[in-house]
Amino acid sequence: MNKPKMAAEKSASRVLMLLSQLERLNEDHKVSNNDAIRQITGKILHLLQTQEKTRKEVTSKGSGGMEVILSSLENTQDLQTTLNILAILNELLTVGGGRRTGVFVSKGGTAILLQMLVSSSKNPPANEELMLHIHTLLVKVGPKDRKFGVKSRLNGALNVTLNLVKHNLQNHKLLLPCLQVLRVYSSNLVNAVSLGKSGALEIMFEIIGPFSKKSTTLMKYVVCSSVLCVCSSGMNARRAVDRGYLPTLLSIYQDWHRHDTRHRHVVIRKSILACIKNLTNIKLGRKAFIDANGMRILYNTSTECLAVRTLDPLVNTSSLIMRKCFPKNRLPLPTIKSVFHHQLPHIAAGGPVAQLYNQPPGVDDVVDESDENEATEVDTENETEYEDDETGHKTQNDDDIETDIKKLRPIQVNTRPFDELRAYEYFCREFSEIFEDNDFESPRSIIPPSSDNSELHRPIIIPTTPSSLGPQNRRPLREDLVTPRPDESPLELDSISISKRPEGTADHDLVCSLGRLVVDGGVNGGSVDGLQDEGGEQAVLEVPDTAALLPLHDPDLYLEMVKSTRSVPAYTEVAYPDYFGHVALNLREPILERVYGVQRMKIFQDIERLIHSSDILDKVVYDLDNQSCPVTDNGESLKFNSKFESGNLRKAIQVRKFEYDLILNSDINSNHYHQWFYFEVSNMRPGVRYRFNIINCEKSNSQFNYGMQVLMYSVQDAINGSPHWVRTGSDICYYKNHFSRSSIAAGGQKGKSYFTLTFTVTFQHKDDVCYFAYHYPYTYSMLKMHLQKLSALRTAQIYYRQDDLCETLGGNSCPLLTITAMPESSSNDHISQFRSRPVVFLSARVHPGETNSSWVMKGTLEFLMSCSPQAQSLRESYIFKIIPMLNPDGVINGNHRCSLSGEDLNRQWQSPNAELHPTIYHAKSLLQYLRATGRTPLVFCDYHGHSRKKNVFMYGCSIKETVWQTNANTSTCDLQEDLGYRTLPKLLSQMAPVFSLSSCSFVVERSKEATARVVVWREIGVQRSYTMESTLCGCDQGKYKGLQIGTSELEEMGAQFCLALLRLRRYTSPLELQNHNSHLLDTENDLIDTRGIPNITSTTTYVLEEDEAAFLEEVDYSAESNDENDPDLEPDLQDNLALLDPSSDSEFSRQDSVN
Ligand SMILES: [Zn+2]
Repeated sequence: MNKPKMAAEKSASRVLMLLSQLERLNEDHKVSNNDAIRQITGKILHLLQTQEKTRKEVTSKGSGGMEVILSSLENTQDLQTTLNILAILNELLTVGGGRRTGVFVSKGGTAILLQMLVSSSKNPPANEELMLHIHTLLVKVGPKDRKFGVKSRLNGALNVTLNLVKHNLQNHKLLLPCLQVLRVYSSNLVNAVSLGKSGALEIMFEIIGPFSKKSTTLMKYVVCSSVLCVCSSGMNARRAVDRGYLPTLLSIYQDWHRHDTRHRHVVIRKSILACIKNLTNIKLGRKAFIDANGMRILYNTSTECLAVRTLDPLVNTSSLIMRKCFPKNRLPLPTIKSVFHHQLPHIAAGGPVAQLYNQPPGVDDVVDESDENEATEVDTENETEYEDDETGHKTQNDDDIETDIKKLRPIQVNTRPFDELRAYEYFCREFSEIFEDNDFESPRSIIPPSSDNSELHRPIIIPTTPSSLGPQNRRPLREDLVTPRPDESPLELDSISISKRPEGTADHDLVCSLGRLVVDGGVNGGSVDGLQDEGGEQAVLEVPDTAALLPLHDPDLYLEMVKSTRSVPAYTEVAYPDYFGHVALNLREPILERVYGVQRMKIFQDIERLIHSSDILDKVVYDLDNQSCPVTDNGESLKFNSKFESGNLRKAIQVRKFEYDLILNSDINSNHYHQWFYFEVSNMRPGVRYRFNIINCEKSNSQFNYGMQVLMYSVQDAINGSPHWVRTGSDICYYKNHFSRSSIAAGGQKGKSYFTLTFTVTFQHKDDVCYFAYHYPYTYSMLKMHLQKLSALRTAQIYYRQDDLCETLGGNSCPLLTITAMPESSSNDHISQFRSRPVVFLSARVHPGETNSSWVMKGTLEFLMSCSPQAQSLRESYIFKIIPMLNPDGVINGNHRCSLSGEDLNRQWQSPNAELHPTIYHAKSLLQYLRATGRTPLVFCDYHGHSRKKNVFMYGCSIKETVWQTNANTSTCDLQEDLGYRTLPKLLSQMAPVFSLSSCSFVVERSKEATARVVVWREIGVQRSYTMESTLCGCDQGKYKGLQIGTSELEEMGAQFCLALLRLRRYTSPLELQNHNSHLLDTENDLIDTRGIPNITSTTTYVLEEDEAAFLEEVDYSAESNDENDPDLEPDLQDNLALLDPSSDSEFSRQDSVN
């Protein structure tokens, strides 16, 4: 040991003088010194015990006191001296613990104690006081020494302590610190296993026992917490279950629950539960729990605890255990493959679709056939859950960031011969168009807004079916109408039937008639007219007059558009909200505050299904797999429907009188990816709380846990003048349920569960028809309607052209828009200015479930077609190439993520297949053509929606920021990179209230190498290539902070994007660069500030997934639903140990003893 340097000279302090004497005596090893040392240490101890300040003096920085004390301890052979020094240390480490204990550990104190423990055990019987002192110190030191576990094992201390416990079961004074030390030992997993083998569990279960008020309570608590630690190893848990300890623990828990009426021993009760929880981490334990009637025991005890808030920890832990042990169910489906199938032109071998359909017939894909083995199960459960980006590929941390500089650099070669691209010249006719003089004079094709509007203002009168046709008659008729036609040819519509009962008839009938807006495909073509004649009486269904507020909406035009929309199920119905239109609410819709305990309450209701299984109706009321469902209708069940464009609901099961389990349909040619829902509900009772559970959600977390509500549209409200999608639902939460996921749909992982989204709704009106959706619906037919309306806004100044980029797999066209300003005249100068405008390339809705991206796109398009001077100036600045819907088929068929090929189109940009991914193939080819003709776009932006984050933000591409993120060597930072990619997001953050710069990221991830953003950046060479993500939930900053997002905010965002492009023009135009030089430099400086220090990347958040970033907000969700961690338990234990421990080092107990 180094020679300690005492700093006593200056101080007259007595304790320091004593210490320097001790130091001198240590130096010459004379036997005669023993007495002196004994005396001095005794005096020091006395001083420490009587004078508070002396403790500070001994351990003050630079005093060297700790070294002297430790070296005395190491050197002495005298028992009394040893005891003195141990007592001194106990005094020192009692108060101001952290730092002093740290000093003690750093000076090697732990090892000295452990060696002393082991060596003194070699001559039994060990001195009890010595053992007491050593263990009391170890309890304090152990948790602060990171290597304590290893040190104690290597020194052989584990068994010494364990043997002490064995031989002192009745000696509580010594037993307690020993058990505490055992607990600290076993926080190291290897130690826990070793202790388990040495019989630690058996010993502890001799002590653990039923309720008692005596001093043994503390003991029992300590035993429990030790068992808890020992059982953290699976092997020990198995040992404990084998020995039958689980029923024992359950009955001990019940006993404490019954007798601890004043709740003084919640800590003990919780630690018993925590032991049970550890044992049920293994399958064997879960079985033992069920066999021991654990569900009922914990359910009953918990319900009795619910009223007392301080018992929440018990309820929460119980609920966690019950959820874990809840027998896994299979989803009530014949297969998880989509109900609908679309024959592909070819199936790529080894692709997801090939895998899907190459399963041998008869394979049950709903649950795994093989029994998962324990080892893999534990592995997957222990694994921190990764957020998949819905592709099933595991992406983790830095591994996912692109580190290959070559791959980060743009590819400078054209990979395709120009001849192949020449065909795309057709989509760029503006560059070669010959403008005639009269192009600038005649306002050709201008439809004056006034004349258009006057048409729209008239009430739309739709003939209804006559009164003679009662509901009993109408039903089968409707059934006929909705029967999908075998071919998928577009509907040829001659008539539209909207039926409504005339005044004075039964209300029930109104429901029926409101229930269907059927696009008559000619199946009953003649009958509508005939019936009208027959009945004579005509009821009028007034379509809400949305025209004034929705200039782009027209119900008649909408139906017209529907006719040419081809869906796989050959839909014949139209959803009312799409037909009537949605007018943005003028009302603020705040992000919901999460109600305390809502998840727990829902889970208890779920557990009741098991406990009171006879109360469960289990009645299937809607089932796409079985078209004849429902067979009977007693009027007591809700009616569901999803057979319309963008609809998604596969099955509805009435569980209890007012509770329904809902199952979503997988994307077509896929067996998962569901999240989007859109369905109709009728036959409701007003004023009753209905609970809906979507039980096959796949994501591990959702904004539904953070204040997002579902959307509802009431047809009654619409007719009464409020045609709005409204955020609805209370008691909303999202949690892991007991329906097991087949590994086939979980990326090969076994033992995964689905998640439940639950919400409760009270309907306002009798006989209403209501619609629910994940987000504001935006159908393909709606896009076509909007485009038709937009084209009518064209003026002599606007160049607007709509082409069909290609036909999709489903036979729908993919519109491509070209918008710019007409040249001022046909003069050469003007034509050349026109042709030299930079191209801005925009796209949206590659992911069908992200309807918000369509609303943002609508905002962009409306701005571009508006007559404001800014819009004109923007059109004069750029040529816009816009693909507003990259995945029409997915949108039409109610998919969430994929196209009809069963693939995520935003992962196909690297090598899109012309047949399977036509929209991507042609969009990329068009971009390649632009590049080949020297018109590489200035900006590319693909609009998306984000289900896990708030606000709107962008992902871009930067080599430097990617390299920094990987902490690669600094030499690569010499890379030259234009910072232009930062300008647009920065402008947006200054202009758009929903936009958040701090959520933006410019890191290129390997898992994103096939996305539009990365491919367009790398292969097309667009430096400003972005994904723009809009929240589905709301904002936590800016003007709309605390509010859920609505369509007007989304549309505003689309318009702001245009304004930001207008400003961007200033930074990118060489001419004007001079004028705005200073302003530009400011921006550049800002940028340099943030990039100067690689570690401070506050403006860049590295996010794993483009669409589904890891969730960062704090909520009780993970603690409650994660099987493995109970983060609040450990600190709890520490605190309570300190309070309960009689030898406690808290200030509290010291004051007590002083008084
Ligand atoms: Zn997306």
